[in-house]
Amino acid sequence: MARAPLPKEIENQVLLLCRRRCCICFGLGGDGEEKRGQIAHLNRDSSDNDPDNLAYLCLPHHDQYDSRTSQSKGLQEGEVKRLRSDLYKALPSLIANRARKAPEGAEAPKGSTNVGGAQTEPEEGSDRNVRIAVATFIVSVLALVAVWLVVPEFRKWSGLDKAKVEDQLNEKGTISGIVVDRDTNQGIGQASITVVGRTEQYVTEDSGNFKFEVAPDPPRRVRLRVSKIGFQLLDITVEPPVDNLVLSLHK
Ligand SMILES: [Zn+2]
Repeated sequence: MARAPLPKEIENQVLLLCRRRCCICFGLGGDGEEKRGQIAHLNRDSSDNDPDNLAYLCLPHHDQYDSRTSQSKGLQEGEVKRLRSDLYKALPSLIANRARKAPEGAEAPKGSTNVGGAQTEPEEGSDRNVRIAVATFIVSVLALVAVWLVVPEFRKWSGLDKAKVEDQLNEKGTISGIVVDRDTNQGIGQASITVVGRTEQYVTEDSGNFKFEVAPDPPRRVRLRVSKIGFQLLDITVEPPVDNLVLSLHK
């Protein structure tokens, strides 16, 4: 039976929802990287284009899911749906972690033009894109710096800023420490720490260290949720200010 093509609109919707991450790679292997892949019909009925019946899978997983011989022992429809919803929930922090690494990524193409020592006179063509990317990056950084400098000045000038009062409150809300692997005692970088019930979210340094302030108006007790792909979630209640907190995660 010929496979009816998936309407473009639905295809785009599915691709956007998963950001081209494979939910099986993510759910079973903790791999949240972008993949080349295809959209699978989970009930194996290729005419059922209900978005709930569709999941973007990497090519190997798509083939594995589709092949009729492996259906009996392979992944079940309900399992994949569950993995898919786990992926959708985890995407904001996956994207946030990736955004943190973006500045390093922006450096790479710049370095590559350096081959042959011709950095000051870049070739035409592909280098044009590199220059545009670097220029965009620099302009964004400058814009951020400008905002960072101007906003507090404006607040001070307009009398909006009760800086001293806020600083005192901030100090009360300071929480610092390290996230470590319970088995190896090594620090865990890029672990995410959220303050339950509030909007604050932080990511640990490469060493696993973190320091942040629950501000303004820190409550007496704060519930922290620590998460990292490949480790179990950790919930812990602390009373800020806290120093040298050690949060160890189980595999
Ligand atoms: Zn996969």
